[in-house]
Amino acid sequence: MNTKVAVRKCDTYNIGEVTDLIADIYRTCEGPDIGNKKVLLKPNILIDADPARCVSTHPVVVEAMIRFLQAGGAEVFVGDSPSIHIRGFKSVRSGIYEVCEKTGATWVDFLVNTAYAPLGSGRIRIASIVKDVDLIISLPKFKNHELVFFTGAVKNTLGLVPGFAKAKQHAIYQDRDKFSEFLVDLNESVLPQFFLMDGIVGMEGPGPGQGSPVKMGILIGSSNPVALDVIATTLAGYDPLIIPTNSAAIRRGKWLKDVKEIIYDGPATESLIKKDFIRISESGRKNTIYRFVFNRLKRIRRLQRRPVFIHKNCIGCRECIKICPQNAIVMDCKKENWVVLKDSKCIRCFCCSEVCQSNAVEIRRKIFGV
Ligand code: SF4
Ligand code: SF4
Repeated sequence: MNTKVAVRKCDTYNIGEVTDLIADIYRTCEGPDIGNKKVLLKPNILIDADPARCVSTHPVVVEAMIRFLQAGGAEVFVGDSPSIHIRGFKSVRSGIYEVCEKTGATWVDFLVNTAYAPLGSGRIRIASIVKDVDLIISLPKFKNHELVFFTGAVKNTLGLVPGFAKAKQHAIYQDRDKFSEFLVDLNESVLPQFFLMDGIVGMEGPGPGQGSPVKMGILIGSSNPVALDVIATTLAGYDPLIIPTNSAAIRRGKWLKDVKEIIYDGPATESLIKKDFIRISESGRKNTIYRFVFNRLKRIRRLQRRPVFIHKNCIGCRECIKICPQNAIVMDCKKENWVVLKDSKCIRCFCCSEVCQSNAVEIRRKIFGV
């Protein structure tokens, strides 16, 4: 398995510079042949939002990758399934649909044609374009994730599963470790062949949708999703083995058996680590007394982090109710925009916070009713 990871400094979304750096990263990591290939680009489009919010892969990174592939003779398709996916979805606000129109790449709505891919002893619904192309290139965004701490290359593959089938997986794999194992299974079944992470401006704090933009000034590429995620999470100041998708994948050893196997090409990692990056608080530290005590305390349901609804911010859009795989959220009809959590049903998947556009869902411990 190719374990090369290339990191390049990049301070701005300048199309010429980003295209040149992508070509350099792709060459360094020995990306797959693209001549006359049909290639699906899979950016991270969590929600269709303005690029300034840094929720999605920046359109300049998408455009640069399209131009690089087209120059190499590839036919390019672009698509993703956002959290709330309605048939006919086009990612207009993110600027990605416009990039497709400008470059001649084909935008694909993943809900229109679907197929199945094997998953363990069963199968999972995926966008049929996955089977129609020769290569998939994944374009994750550098940002946190409340459930699996960091949403990198391994997690970005989930967007190949269209519509509500994504949220349904949370009901099947009901905790962080099981969900991470599922994500690794999914990558083993539907493996993109190359990954390019947009870390020029990432997102810190509550992720994947409610954090704040943070300048990281990097692009990271690899053919190996686990090696890429190990480097990215290290640069975010995490212990990479705390990230459940990393540890699940390394236990299996398909992509990486040990972080020491990574062949790194780029500036010294110490010079790139952002020590004050705001991480997911529960990630803690590996093998500390804190973590030992914490793992035991978190089994007490009352002490778990959970969605807390900030009623003054709620606009009553009901997106959280639509996405909840457990029907654990209801609207109190007697009060205006008053969302209520049925805590006994909640599995702490945090999909509700992903879709809320109004900062009305915080993920935190709620003790003594506060
Ligand atoms: S209330 Fe939120 S965290 Fe709980 S199950 Fe529903 S979507 Fe998941
Ligand atoms: S909490 Fe957020 S997603 Fe849910 S109804 Fe209110 S504004 Fe909409």
